[in-house]
Amino acid sequence: KNDMLEQWDRESFFHPSTHLAQFARGEAPERVISGGQGVFIEDRDGNRLLDAFAGLYCVNVGYGRSEISEAIAEQARQLSYYHAYVGHGTEASITLAKMVMDRAPDHMSKVYFGLGGSDANETNIKLVWYYNNVRGRPAKKKIISRWRGYHGSGLMTGSLTGLAGFHNKFDLPLAPILHTEAPYYYRRPDLDMTEADFVAHCAAELEALIEREGADTIAAFIGEPVLGTGGIVPPPAGYWEAIQPILEKHDILLIVDEVVTGFGRLGEMFGSSKYGLKPDLITIAKGLTSAYAPLSGSIVSDRMWKVLEEGTDEFGPIGHGWTYSAHPIGAAAGVANLKLIDDLGLVRNAAETGGYFVNAMKTALSEHAHVGDIRGEGMLCAVELVEDKGSRTFYDPAGKVAGAVVAEMATSGVIARAMPQGDIIGFAPPLCLSKEEADRVVEVTAKAVKAVLG
Ligand code: PLP
Repeated sequence: KNDMLEQWDRESFFHPSTHLAQFARGEAPERVISGGQGVFIEDRDGNRLLDAFAGLYCVNVGYGRSEISEAIAEQARQLSYYHAYVGHGTEASITLAKMVMDRAPDHMSKVYFGLGGSDANETNIKLVWYYNNVRGRPAKKKIISRWRGYHGSGLMTGSLTGLAGFHNKFDLPLAPILHTEAPYYYRRPDLDMTEADFVAHCAAELEALIEREGADTIAAFIGEPVLGTGGIVPPPAGYWEAIQPILEKHDILLIVDEVVTGFGRLGEMFGSSKYGLKPDLITIAKGLTSAYAPLSGSIVSDRMWKVLEEGTDEFGPIGHGWTYSAHPIGAAAGVANLKLIDDLGLVRNAAETGGYFVNAMKTALSEHAHVGDIRGEGMLCAVELVEDKGSRTFYDPAGKVAGAVVAEMATSGVIARAMPQGDIIGFAPPLCLSKEEADRVVEVTAKAVKAVLG
C-alpha cells in the first residue's frame, strides 16, 4: 500500500466539485477507490460499499463486467485509436452508431459521437445555430432551459444548467440563455395549486417568456425528461404534453437531454418514448458505455439532418470535431454495454425493481416528520427533507442535513448523494439492483435519517 497517496492527493489533485479549502485542510473526506463488483465498490482499505448512485448515475450495468473490460482490452490491442474525421470509422464506432440508431425513436437519423455529456450539449447548441444560419434565420439563436436543469459544466452548458452553484463567480449564464420554471410540483409557488394548475402555470411562464423575447429570437428548448441533478424530480402529469405544442407553435427546436435517462434508467430505453417526446436532438452519455470508457453522443433528427447536409453543400465540411470523437475504446465499451443491457433485461429491471425501491422508501419514511416528499421514476429516487410537512421549506436550504444523512449512510456501507441544491437525498443505483439490495438501501437510509433527525 502506497502511504504517500493521501499526501499526494491533497498536494496535487484539483478535484472537481469539491470544497477546495476544506479538502486542503483535511476536513473533507478522502477515499481511494480500488475496485468494484455488481452494485458494490471497494476502497483500498477494504471497505465495501453498496453504490446506490452508480458512480454519477452512470454505471448502469454495475461494476466489474468482464464482457466490457474484455471488449476494451481487445480493442486496445487491435487499434487503440484512429480519428473519425472525413468519413473514417472503426468497426466498433460504426457498429455502435447502428446500435444506437436501432434503439432511438424512429424519426431520428444519425448520431455524432463525443466524449461526455457536456461536450455533447455544446455540439447540440452549435448544430442548432448552424441549422438556423443555413435556414437564413441568424437572429433565432436564444436557448431556453429550466431552473434546476443540469446540462453540463462548460461555458455554454454551464449556462444552460439552472443551478446557482454552477454560475456563481463564473460570470454565467451567457447572454443567449434564458431560464424558465422548473416542473417541480412539490415546490410550486402556491400550495393551493392542483397539479393541473401547476402545469398550466409552467406552460404560461414559457409562453410569456417567448412572447417577451420574441419567438423569432429563440432557437431551442432543452430539458431532461426527469430533472436529475436539480433534485431528481419527475414532471407533473401532463407537463410535456403542455410544453411540446408551445415549442412547435413557435418553431422552437426541442433538445432532450437523456444523459441520465438514456438506455434504461426510467424503465424504458429512452425517456423521450416514455413521455411521448419528439426531439430534434437527444443527448446521450453515461449509460451509453455505463462509464467503462468516456463516450457521448448527439442524436440528430431527420428534419435537422436534411438541413445540415444542405449546409455542407453550400459551406463545405462541417467545422466541428474533437480528436476523440467516436474513440474506438469508448465505442467498443458501448457495443458490449448495450448488448449487456439487452441480455440481462436491465430496462425491465429498472422499471420493476426501481418501482419496488421507491415504494419501499415511501413505506419506510413517509411518516417521518421531516421527510416532505419521496418520489422517483424507474431507477431514480429522491427523499426531500423539510422543516415540517406543512410549510415544505427545506430543512436546511444549503443541504447540510442531507449531507449528514449521506455521511451517516456511508458508515453503514451505502452510498447515496446529497443533491447540490436544497436538502435532498438522491438515489440512482445501477440498473441491475436486486430487491434484496434495494431493501438494504432503504433500511440504511431510514436508520440514518433517524440517527440525524430523530
Ligand atoms: N446532462 C445531464 C442531464 C447530466 O446529468 C450531466 C452530468 O451529470 C451532463 C449533461 C454532463 O455530462 P458530463 O458530466 O459527462 O459532461
